[in-house]
Amino acid sequence: MNDIATNIAQIHDRIGRACQKSGRNPEEVKLIAVSKIKPAEQIEEAFHAGQILFGESYVQEFRDKEPLVETPVEWHFIGGLQSNKVKYLRGKVVMIHSVDRLSLAEEIDRQWGKIDGAIEILLQVNVGDEASKSGCPPEDLENLVRSVAPLTNLRIKGLMCLPPHSDDPEQVRPFFKQLRELSEQIDRLQLPGVEMHELSMGMSGDFEVAVEEGATLVRVGTAIFGARIKKV
Ligand SMILES: *Cc1c(COP(=O)(O)O)cnc(C)c1O
Repeated sequence: MNDIATNIAQIHDRIGRACQKSGRNPEEVKLIAVSKIKPAEQIEEAFHAGQILFGESYVQEFRDKEPLVETPVEWHFIGGLQSNKVKYLRGKVVMIHSVDRLSLAEEIDRQWGKIDGAIEILLQVNVGDEASKSGCPPEDLENLVRSVAPLTNLRIKGLMCLPPHSDDPEQVRPFFKQLRELSEQIDRLQLPGVEMHELSMGMSGDFEVAVEEGATLVRVGTAIFGARIKKV
């Protein structure tokens, strides 16, 4: 199926069923259409099908593409981020999901300070403890939250993870569960300026399981736009 509107409708159905199965309210789950490597026209097509939130992973690509998108979409940045590139996102994205270190949070704070704004962020946790993945180690999360919370131009809204890939979503479930439990632990600390309302987890292959485990933001690319040509 290659029709973007149809794909989006089917994903909403599947999210609805996962909510029903787990006793959740579907209104708690938002769909982020991951549009990396996809052209502006496909983003606009998805927007006309009712999709508002879009996720991008590559700063350079985002810089080039964002001015070409004429529909009023909301951009989320979900990819690995170097501090020296934060300036290109300033004022353009509503949320950054991939904050995994204090130095990056400080640069985001500095850049949004320049426009007297505040940006919502999520802290990315390396739940699979994979050496190759970014994300804060689970055991360091509390320290990271405590050090980022006082920064005034950003607001911590929750956690994000990108667990080890598996073709079987049940293999990924424990990682989603772990992220939810970490979020509950942090929430219990009742730290000023820290909200744990959002759990950004689940992609095309496993978003239903993520929803069953409490996801509030699912990041779906391939199931909406079709396969991506690998970026080199
Ligand atoms: C590419 C990407 C996704 C979407 O992956 P699909 O399998 O295409 O749905 C989600 N999250 C992040 C961080 C990504 O980079």
